[in-house]
Amino acid sequence: MTWSYWRISPFVTSIFFILGVLTLYWVLFNWITSWFHARHINIDDDTINAWHGVIYMLVFVFVMQLSVIGQANSWEFVNFHLIAVIFCAFFLNIRMPYYTLLPVVIVYMVFDQSIFFWESWSYAAVFVGFFWSLNYLRLWVQKHAHSWVYYYGTVGFFGGVLWGLIKVKYSLSWENTLQEYGYLLIFAGLLYAYVNMLTQDSEIKLRLAQFASHDALTQTENFAAYTEHIKYLFDDSTANNLNLSMMMFDIDHFKHVNDTYGHLAGDRVLQEVSETVQTVLSENDPKVKLYRTGGEEFNVLFPGYDLVSTRAIVRQIFAAVNHLVVKYGDQEIAVSISVGVSTLHQADDSPVDFYNRVDQNLYFSKRHGRMRVTVDQ
Ligand code: GH3
Ligand code: MG
Ligand code: MG
Repeated sequence: MTWSYWRISPFVTSIFFILGVLTLYWVLFNWITSWFHARHINIDDDTINAWHGVIYMLVFVFVMQLSVIGQANSWEFVNFHLIAVIFCAFFLNIRMPYYTLLPVVIVYMVFDQSIFFWESWSYAAVFVGFFWSLNYLRLWVQKHAHSWVYYYGTVGFFGGVLWGLIKVKYSLSWENTLQEYGYLLIFAGLLYAYVNMLTQDSEIKLRLAQFASHDALTQTENFAAYTEHIKYLFDDSTANNLNLSMMMFDIDHFKHVNDTYGHLAGDRVLQEVSETVQTVLSENDPKVKLYRTGGEEFNVLFPGYDLVSTRAIVRQIFAAVNHLVVKYGDQEIAVSISVGVSTLHQADDSPVDFYNRVDQNLYFSKRHGRMRVTVDQ
């Protein structure tokens, strides 16, 4: 058996073609998001997904159609177009308002030399309706069980109308039309199974990534995340001459809390202190992040902040935590923290130099009565 004797039906080839196109989509999407994340460019994955989805699918549809324009068989790739629409509108849930979707459809008709046919205009109208219905369905099915039934119903209805119009325009036989319609239903089913499989896999990865960078008890970022972020911020700030400040705090006499009220009460204190600090930070600036770097020791990084602007937030954190009374059963536990603050100096050769100065300031607060803030100049 050699390559030239392979007899694979177009149907089987189509299945692998569709799976290949989708796999390439995901590989490119992962590559693009990693590229942005590695450069710490703040663009959310949904935006990338929408732009990437639209551009990728348009290139895919137009390039394929190029080979059959104006020919009697120019309907041949319709199932691929419909799969591309289902993928963008339902699975990626890309919203395209009429002022972007209609021009795309009209440009397509000009490109496909089909703009002067009434069937094409009807086809375009149903096509746009299909896109919007899938958009809407995606949001609706999330709240309902057996979502695949509604999915199949919508694809079956619109797919049937669209293939009916193609039958009329190209005078296809019933046999041919029904066969293509059947293929569409099979492709749509495969797409549903395949995308669900892939998204489940990426949800697991997302959970693992969250697990690797977050502290399970307090939900703050953990030491591993701190190490990575301080390295990036240190390099970026020194290279571009940007401000960067750091606050470190440690809960006072925490061992005493554990010894007096028990370890679980200690855990509760850690959680409430973290929540309090997170609230202050989210009210001020979401770019400022809290990390749990040790047992009862935390770190806050202030990218772009000098000492004056840092102090304003540190003061709020210090006041909020020192006023905190943690209720555990019928016990009330008062909390206080000791704080060290510093800003990046030109003489700092590494993040460790910077860290050590903040640590010394924290140590100074501990040695001078606790519940105080030490800031160097
Ligand atoms: P200081 O004011 O000098 O900071 O005294 P301290 O008692 O807070 O400091 P020390 O470092 O002696 O004690 C820290 C304690 O924190 C010891 C450790 O058992 C406790 N600890 C560390 N991690 C956890 C945790 O996850 N949960 C609880 N409940 N305790 C923890
Ligand atoms: Mg302590
Ligand atoms: Mg400590």
